[in-house]
Amino acid sequence: MIGTEKLGLFGGPKAVTGPHEDMFKWPIITEEDEAAAVQVLRDGAMSGTDITKKFEKEFAEWLGMDYALGFNNGTSSLLGAFYGCGIGVGDEVICPSVTYWASALPAYSLGASVVFAEIDPVTLCLDPNDIEHRITERTKAIVVVHYLGHPADMDPIMEVARKHNLKVIEDVSHAQGGYYKGHRVGTIGDVGAMSLMAGKSFAIGEGGILVTNDQEIYERAIAFGHYERNNQDIQTPSLQPFIGLPLGGYKFRMHQVSSAVGRVQLKYYDERIAEIDKAMNYFWDSLEGVPGLRAHRPAKNSGSTMGGWYATHGHYVPEELGGLSVTRFCEAVRAEGVGIAPGCNLPLHLHPLQHDADVYGHGKPTIIANASRDLRQPKGALPVSEGIAARVYSLPWFKHFRPELIDQYVEAFRKVATQYEALLADDKGNPEKLGGWNFFRQKV
Ligand SMILES: *Cc1c(COP(=O)(O)O)cnc(C)c1O
Repeated sequence: MIGTEKLGLFGGPKAVTGPHEDMFKWPIITEEDEAAAVQVLRDGAMSGTDITKKFEKEFAEWLGMDYALGFNNGTSSLLGAFYGCGIGVGDEVICPSVTYWASALPAYSLGASVVFAEIDPVTLCLDPNDIEHRITERTKAIVVVHYLGHPADMDPIMEVARKHNLKVIEDVSHAQGGYYKGHRVGTIGDVGAMSLMAGKSFAIGEGGILVTNDQEIYERAIAFGHYERNNQDIQTPSLQPFIGLPLGGYKFRMHQVSSAVGRVQLKYYDERIAEIDKAMNYFWDSLEGVPGLRAHRPAKNSGSTMGGWYATHGHYVPEELGGLSVTRFCEAVRAEGVGIAPGCNLPLHLHPLQHDADVYGHGKPTIIANASRDLRQPKGALPVSEGIAARVYSLPWFKHFRPELIDQYVEAFRKVATQYEALLADDKGNPEKLGGWNFFRQKV
C-alpha cells in the first residue's frame, strides 16, 4: 500500500531505487555546444566581443527587450545594473534579506548601503508590504529577486517604486525564462540582471547578462565595465564627456566560449525548461493533499511560472506533522534515497558583514560608512526571513519528465509525511544555524 512501507530510516526498503541516468544532469550539452566552444578556441576568439554581441542580440530578442549586455558573471551584471541606475555614495537600496549576497552587496563598492526587507512566506520573494516604510529620501532602488525560481509579486512592487520614483532592479539569477502574469521576469522592472553560471537554470559557464529598455542604464553599464564599447555609439549626454574612458576601472567582458555556448543553449532553453516544468508540476500534483508538504510554485492558470525551477525548494508545515522538525523530516527522506536538506540561504541582515566589517577603511563599519543613520538590522528585525529555514527544504531538480522515476520520489515524501509519528520520538529539533553554506557566518 502506498505510504505504508517501513521507513528507510528504520531499515525498510528505500523508496527511490532509480535508474537515474541523466535525470539530474545539467546543462544538457550536445555536439552542437561542443562544436561552438571548440570553434572559439580554434579561432583564438576567446576574448573578443563578436560572438557575445550576437548572443546579446538573440537574448534581447528572446525576452523582447531593446538591450542586452553580457558580463563575466552575474555579480558584475548586478554591479553594472546598480551603476546603470545611478546608485552612488550615500544612496540606499532595498533588497530582500533571504537571497545570495550578490543581489545587493555590490552596492557597497559604489558607496551605497543596503536596507533589508522581509520575504513573503509563500512566494519566498520580497514582501511588497514591507517596502514602503523603509523608503527614505536616500532610497534609490528596489532589488527584486525571483527567488528559487518563483516570480516575485511585481505589480504592487512596481506601484510602490513608481510612486516614490525608485528604480527596480530584477535579479533573475534563479528564474531565467519564468513568467509573472504573462510577462517574462527581468523585463518588468527598469533593468534585469542575472547569473548564467553553470549550475543555474540558464547555464553557460561563468557568465552574466543585463537586459533593459532604458538606453541610459545600458550605456552607463557599458561605460562602467566595458571600456572597448564606450565609444562614439554612446548617446546619453551625461556620458559623452567620458567616451573612451574606462569609467569604473572594471572589465566585465564575457568569455566567448560562454557566449558561444549560450547561443546554442538559448535555441533549446524554452523547450528544456518546459520539460522541467512538466516534471516538477507532476511531482507536486502527485503530492497534493499530503499533510505538511506544499509546493513552492505560482497558482495554475495565473500566467506566472517557475521558469527553470532553479534550486527548487518545498514548503514545510511542521504544525501538520505534530511539530516534527524539518531537520528530522529531511533525515528520513534522505534515508529513502533522496538527497535533500533543510533551509535555504541564510538571511543577509544577520551576516557580520552587515554589522562590523570595515571593508574599505572608512574607520567604521561599511554599512554605515556613507549612511545618514544606523542601518544595522539586529536579530529579530526580520522574523519571517529569520524563521524561514525551519519551513523549507531543497528538492530534487528533475530535468526530464519520467513519471515512473518521479513516482519513486513522490512515494519517498509521502511515506515519510504519513508516518511522521514514528519520527517524533528521536527528533532533536533544528540546529541554531539551519541551511546556508558551511563557511557563511551568522551573527547570533
Ligand atoms: C548566482 C547568483 C548571483 C551571482 O551570480 P554569479 O554568476 O555567481 O556571479 C546573483 N544573485 C543570485 C540570486 C544568485 O543566485
